[in-house]
Amino acid sequence: MDNCIFCKIARGEIPCRKVYEDSEVLAFHDINPVAPVHFMMIPKLHLASLVEAGEAHTALLGKMLLLAPRLAKEQGLENGFRAVINTGKGGGQEVFHLHIHVIGGGNIPPMVRRS
Ligand code: AMP
Ligand code: ZN
Repeated sequence: MDNCIFCKIARGEIPCRKVYEDSEVLAFHDINPVAPVHFMMIPKLHLASLVEAGEAHTALLGKMLLLAPRLAKEQGLENGFRAVINTGKGGGQEVFHLHIHVIGGGNIPPMVRRS
């Protein structure tokens, strides 16, 4: 996708602070972190969101999920992490290229506040 910022990062046209890369997946630090460790994992293939993923992407998504704890540990998150996939406008997604946020370190608040 020509105008997708994460496709541009995947193609090396926009710099990133890389965490991991292979032929299918790229992980890089979030430019505006919400915690001491905050990186995201993207497929190099452009998928706008989880809604656009299908059975053809089962192995790719499985691979990314299994990679998350390994990369989190490598980034020093020995005690766990939060993985977040904002999906669609209703899910607060801002960049429409599927990504998994991996967040941790410091005090991670409850994900949803109950009043
Ligand atoms: P989301 O709301 O899930 O779509 O999150 C998009 C995330 O992308 C936000 O946390 C942004 O800080 C992050 N982001 C946007 N542009 C860049 C960039 N050039 N490099 C790294 N992270 C970015
Ligand atoms: Zn893209």
